[in-house]
Amino acid sequence: MKGFLLVISGPTAAGKGTIVKEILKKRDDIVTSISVTTRYQRENEVDGVDYFFKTQEEFDELIETNKLLEHAVVHGNLYGTPLAFVEKSINEGKVVILEIDVQGASQVRENYDNGVFVFMLPPKKSDIETRLRHRNTESEDMIQTRLRNAEVELAQIRYYDYYLINDYIDSATERLEEIIDEELEKRRK
Ligand code: 5GP
Repeated sequence: MKGFLLVISGPTAAGKGTIVKEILKKRDDIVTSISVTTRYQRENEVDGVDYFFKTQEEFDELIETNKLLEHAVVHGNLYGTPLAFVEKSINEGKVVILEIDVQGASQVRENYDNGVFVFMLPPKKSDIETRLRHRNTESEDMIQTRLRNAEVELAQIRYYDYYLINDYIDSATERLEEIIDEELEKRRK
């Protein structure tokens, strides 16, 4: 049986990355795609683990040679999903998680008919700003950009199959696992 794509979007600092890391620890039938980006590398990030960090020229080359499944400008930087890894993993029967923004998700929705779309959000709207500031990785300008974009992202929630409230890491991870199992079960029938 082939695997499927599980797209997770949601406003900045919704905790998508944390939940994805947790689920990867628990399951070997789930993998996550590592995106390419032109964003600056944060101090705690490792090239090839968190992202493949690229120059604008390198990124353009990937677009021109059709190496990306989708790509978008998010908060002023380019982000994209490498196609080869996704294809290989799906053929191996894996569930492939894409943690991507709403524009990328819409491209996946158009080009791929077997995706599952999950929108993750914190319990309270004000948590977005609190978490973003607490993370201490962005300049004030970038915090403002990300907060504005959060509104744009939230307006797209209706296109998603599942909503996932990230209240506690354990329960949100369990809920995501349930969603994946439900979808695997549907595909087995
Ligand atoms: P961050 O800079 O905080 O790591 O990510 C910013 C946003 O970019 C997040 O909302 C994340 O989902 C999105 N993003 C990360 N990788 C990709 C990608 O490959 N494609 C798209 N379209 N968005 C991405």
